[in-house]
Amino acid sequence: MKSDQIIQRLADAGFSVTRSRRVVADAIAAQKRRFNAADVEAIVAQVAPDVGRATVFRTLALLERIGVLGRIHARDGCAEYVVCSRSEHHHHLVCSACGRVTEVAGCGLDSMLDEAAERYGFQVDGHLVEIYGQCRSCRALGAGES
Ligand SMILES: [Zn+2]
Ligand SMILES: [Zn+2]
Ligand SMILES: [Zn+2]
Repeated sequence: MKSDQIIQRLADAGFSVTRSRRVVADAIAAQKRRFNAADVEAIVAQVAPDVGRATVFRTLALLERIGVLGRIHARDGCAEYVVCSRSEHHHHLVCSACGRVTEVAGCGLDSMLDEAAERYGFQVDGHLVEIYGQCRSCRALGAGES
């Protein structure tokens, strides 16, 4: 996603576009892979050293709240972010080798969950699913090696 689109979504959600928010938007717009707050902090520290850590964290939380950022639940338990172009519920294919993230349209789990909910008398509020594996280019690399 382009930095301008992130800024537009902030404005659409009714938030003012401050310089620090613009700096953070620029930093995450370039991300094609999963990243964490420390990655963003490092970029911001280079281009705008006056924008503090707390501001970076607050801005990331805001961007997550309005759906620009999705949170990836990494297998080591650490929270990482991904830039989301979809606002509706969706899942991510996360490459374990290079960290590239692909958004998957639609969910496909609803009927399975409805069935399980009915069977166990459970009310479902939501679910988290991350799909890990190897992306197309990493698979191509792997195929070339053998
Ligand atoms: Zn997403
Ligand atoms: Zn990959
Ligand atoms: Zn789902």
